[in-house]
Amino acid sequence: PVVTRFAPSPTGALHIGGARTALFNWLYARGRSGKFLLRIEDTDRARSTDENTRAILDGLSWLGLDWDGEPISQAARAERHAEVARQMLADGTAYKCFATQAEIEAFREEARALGGSTLYRSPWRDASEADYPDDAPFVIRLKAPREGASTIHDEVQGEITIGNDQLDDMVLLRSDGSPVYMLAVVVDDHDMGVTHVIRGDDHMTNAHRQALIYRAMGWELPVFAHVPLIFGPDGKKLSKRHGATGAAEYQQMGYPSAGMRNYLTRLGWSHGDAEFFTDAEAREWFDLKGIGKSPARFDTKKLENLCRQHIAISDDAALLHELEAFLAATGQLPLTEGQREGLLKAMPHLKDRAKIFPELIEKAHFVLTERPIVPDEKSAKSLDDVSRGILAELTPQLQTASWERDALEGVVTALAETHGLGLGKLAGPLRAALAGRMVSPSVFDMMLVLGRDESVARIEDAAA
Ligand code: GLU
Repeated sequence: PVVTRFAPSPTGALHIGGARTALFNWLYARGRSGKFLLRIEDTDRARSTDENTRAILDGLSWLGLDWDGEPISQAARAERHAEVARQMLADGTAYKCFATQAEIEAFREEARALGGSTLYRSPWRDASEADYPDDAPFVIRLKAPREGASTIHDEVQGEITIGNDQLDDMVLLRSDGSPVYMLAVVVDDHDMGVTHVIRGDDHMTNAHRQALIYRAMGWELPVFAHVPLIFGPDGKKLSKRHGATGAAEYQQMGYPSAGMRNYLTRLGWSHGDAEFFTDAEAREWFDLKGIGKSPARFDTKKLENLCRQHIAISDDAALLHELEAFLAATGQLPLTEGQREGLLKAMPHLKDRAKIFPELIEKAHFVLTERPIVPDEKSAKSLDDVSRGILAELTPQLQTASWERDALEGVVTALAETHGLGLGKLAGPLRAALAGRMVSPSVFDMMLVLGRDESVARIEDAAA
């Protein structure tokens, strides 16, 4: 069974790059009835905070990336990591190194002077126990192969070979008994049963070092897939300079999570020429073969375009639910029962062109507000004495008209014609009466959503 994981360091918020890594792992597991696990790499005690962990989990939840089981704390597993280092010591795949910092420095300096490699070569590698000093502090080092080369197969990058003379006998356990990060990752991935490691290609070199630990322990290596990083539109690594880079920032701006998922899935992965797809399709199609070898560029226009399409096909009730979550997340007032009802009724007319929730809310003003409608400055301009007079003539006709789109359109068009006007000339004042805003659904859609009594009352108010 497939087991993937997302292993964020809680030293900051969830970034777009991290969100995409999580998404790829989630898709890969979910499409194969596998498990998607979460590991919080909180070993850097100084920079890791609970607040960041919470923000990362919130970001994942917003994106709909549910994980299996409880998130695992890497720091809490330090004793297990140390146990593996001691196991390697017992197996002879690691050794105690008593070299002092000064000795290591001296070694490097000499190597530098000779113009050779400055990778530390410990004299303790082949020492026997009899040579060990009494009570001196030591670190545990991996006994890495020095001859030949090591190859790892990466599902994205292909075969990557590196000469064994490039890697040193890395420290596994520090003299205070604390494990190093590289050991922690391998032990955790092994113990968690991780079968596929999908992560940023900035971890490619680490993979070589990690493979040494897997081999020393006789553990099976996971499948590696190192994904190229995300670039900004200018082809440089995505950063603040390019605009919003945090997942939460996109949530705050009101991007729908389905559109975000679709876009992030396409960012560095492709399936033929498919751009727009549903979650179900993404789960079915996602594979490691489709991950590109070169960095993808973040493109806000594409993101918006996909978001617009996802809002348009969303189920009304689900959309309302997400909209309410957006209002809550951005500290806006909760909806009243009446507003919720109005929104649900109006939804088919709101969702056809919005790419982010604030646009949808702007268009929904007519159901979020109550009588008396106070038109804003622009909208008020279309209400003059002439148009007020025409609105006054309209209300009695609306009292008796059949409350259907065609009938309403007929009544309003006929009235406009008797005044020698086009329908467009009447739409402005009607919009001002019904919504008090220039941005709204069509006047007929609004009338149908509001119903006869409310529509007539609003038009009477404006005519008065
Ligand atoms: N904690 C690492 C990071 O946030 C990820 C390590 C991994 O995926 O192996 O970059």
